[in-house]
Amino acid sequence: MFNPSKNFKPFGNKIWLASPTMHGDEQKFVQEAFDTNWVSTVGANLNELEKNICKYVGCKYAVALASGTSALHLAVKLAGVKAGDKVFCSDLTFSATVNPVLYEKGTPIFIDSERDTWNLNPAALERAFKIFPDVKVVIVANLYGTPAKLDEIQKVCKEHSAILIEDAAESLGANYKGQQTGTFGQFNAISFNGNKIITTSGGGMLLTDDEKAAKLARKWSTQSREPAAWYQHIDIGYNYRMSNIVAGIGRGQLLHIQEHIAAKKKIYERYRDGLKDLPVTMNPYDEKIMSPNFWLSCLLIDEKFMCRQVRSDNQALFIAEHGKTCPTEILETLAKFNAEGRPIWKPMHLQPIYYNNSFVAENDGEDVGADIFNRGLCLPSDIKMTETQQDKIIEIIRACFE
Ligand SMILES: *Cc1c(COP(=O)(O)O)cnc(C)c1O
Repeated sequence: MFNPSKNFKPFGNKIWLASPTMHGDEQKFVQEAFDTNWVSTVGANLNELEKNICKYVGCKYAVALASGTSALHLAVKLAGVKAGDKVFCSDLTFSATVNPVLYEKGTPIFIDSERDTWNLNPAALERAFKIFPDVKVVIVANLYGTPAKLDEIQKVCKEHSAILIEDAAESLGANYKGQQTGTFGQFNAISFNGNKIITTSGGGMLLTDDEKAAKLARKWSTQSREPAAWYQHIDIGYNYRMSNIVAGIGRGQLLHIQEHIAAKKKIYERYRDGLKDLPVTMNPYDEKIMSPNFWLSCLLIDEKFMCRQVRSDNQALFIAEHGKTCPTEILETLAKFNAEGRPIWKPMHLQPIYYNNSFVAENDGEDVGADIFNRGLCLPSDIKMTETQQDKIIEIIRACFE
């Protein structure tokens, strides 16, 4: 339990989980858009951002869109998901990974996580194909910037002739076996939301090596106009295109992505070292085969050091106990001192909207995602946090274990 005799003072300025970090280049590109009057959904910033992302990630085509969610929606459409189709999806993720399946009236089936990266478990996926052999689309998310076991997942998909969609919204700049995330699926999504590794304030992109698919996504995202002298339509259209103003922010941010990743990594390592004698582990990854972008630093509390914690659909309670703590206590204590942490994503199969959807784990009765949700939390990971501030966060967490 938090030791109340600790004489901490709240942070004067809030320490955020992850907030935008601007450098000045962003404003220059935005100004260029104003100066040339490309205040629209066409312009040089859009072209350059798409080109530069392709170069950075190593893919052939990028389509700049209004959000990561719209990129996932177009990916689901490109994969051909139709009403009633089942789609295998990461279970432990943000709802935006999965909702686009519902936009197309498909049915998500949730696949449990493994312990090594907290991402979709390839063995559970294999098992799911035995139960539902007709499934043709799989959506995998790379949680908190750590790549999933992407080659194993690709292999299972190939064996079952399924299309892989990679939700790399949180993992831009991370790589797996030397290959950037956002390139492992036939269709891939990245996000430039305000809290991601780089931001355009809001935005996203569809990435693919498939020229036809990229063209189609571009057409769908701009209201599906056919090449004709008038407004001619065969397909349903969307207003999903990114604005050239917003793209200017992204163009400036991309110049600094490596700095952001280095700063995030340092934060992760400082937490890991500062908390190493506590009964906790950090969100895991295998440094031999992957480099995450370390978007968020997370903690998992050892089972034996968990005090009692109950969560209803909208409330959390815990019973304070000496020598033990829980995510709720740590999050409430951080908030008291003006620092923002966050619970782990609540697994999709535990969400009321998805109560009736199937969930497949590697072994009967197992639920790795629910366990990580119960015992885990995201720590303040803002790259503008100073070392002194992080040291104090570490002290607050330590005081929760007294
Ligand atoms: C942020 C996020 C998205 C959605 O991206 P937006 O740009 O906010 O629409 C999708 N999936 C995951 C895993 C995310 O974290």
